Amino acid sequence: MHDLTIDRVQTRLLDVPLVRPHRFARTGMTAQPIMLLTISTSGGATGTGEGVVPGGPWWGGESVETMQLVVERYLAPVLLGRRADDIENLQRDLGDVVAGNLFAKAAVEVALHDAWARALGVPVHTLLGGLARTSVPVTWALGTEPAGEVVDEALAKLDGGGHTSFKLKMGAQEPAADVARVVEVAEKLRDSAGVRVDLNARWDLATSLRWLPALADAGVELVEQPVPAAEVDWLRQISAALRIPVMADESLRTPSDAFRLASSGAAGVFSVKTTKSGGLRRSAEITAIGAAAGVPCHAGTSIEGPVGTAATLHLACAAPGMTWGSELFGPLLMTEQLAVEPLRYADGHLHLPDGPGLGVDLDPAIVERLTRR
Ligand SMILES: [Mg+2]
Repeated sequence: MHDLTIDRVQTRLLDVPLVRPHRFARTGMTAQPIMLLTISTSGGATGTGEGVVPGGPWWGGESVETMQLVVERYLAPVLLGRRADDIENLQRDLGDVVAGNLFAKAAVEVALHDAWARALGVPVHTLLGGLARTSVPVTWALGTEPAGEVVDEALAKLDGGGHTSFKLKMGAQEPAADVARVVEVAEKLRDSAGVRVDLNARWDLATSLRWLPALADAGVELVEQPVPAAEVDWLRQISAALRIPVMADESLRTPSDAFRLASSGAAGVFSVKTTKSGGLRRSAEITAIGAAAGVPCHAGTSIEGPVGTAATLHLACAAPGMTWGSELFGPLLMTEQLAVEPLRYADGHLHLPDGPGLGVDLDPAIVERLTRR
């Protein structure tokens, strides 16, 4: 039998350049920082996870720097000497030492699954219960640039990548100008692609009720997280007022959040991210709660590299309730693929890789070159 005792936990920070600057409502980035975490077992298996937030601590308070500190100082001592497959007990014990910090814990939890699966010689999705599908559709994320630029990028992606759905970030401008910009994009793409918007929690209830119906009228098919994370009743009122679904993202991090959102009718779609929820197992639970409540799930991203993207891909392919596609475009936004065998995007879909574990082996020379000094 393979000895699954954890004998080493290592982290490093990478800065991966992007093919173009990526803008959010109030911030932007030209390179994505990634905390790469590896867990080694006495039997010789190595598992990898990524600690990633979208560009910095604005989304949820964690950054790659806080993650590295939390892992090295507090989480690694709990892991050393324990078995890599003792995941539920390890998560409980990690939670006894560190509250919250779900992005950091996700890197650990994914690395445990990768190491365990590699020791068994099986893919990670086997540990999650097998496959519901072998690929997921990928929405391409457009930035907060003017309508003309955004439409040009969307049309190029329709031709080149087979993407048939686009997500626009909003919240960088005043609502009237922002809505006019999105309406222009939605009307230009109306017959060729779906358009979704993400407010990243920047509006209040009155602004949402005033402006979101115009987006629905212009053909926008989904509105993501218009109001702050804690305002679940606002989400409920917005969902009741709109004829298109409202997707919960910042409001949804734990299975308890999923239960509250589903039972109050606050969200029509769940954005599930392994990063914000502490890993694969809690994300699978959230998807199951959605399925039981009639709320379809979408595989979201924090703009991970190939390891983190593959982790969510295994979950998305294993979870029957993940029926609203994905935004797993992270590696496409990066100038370097990091992996020996890049993840396969074709026909607007991301396809499950072969091989044990996550099916992603990183190129040590590229990792070394991008490591922060
Ligand atoms: Mg979002």
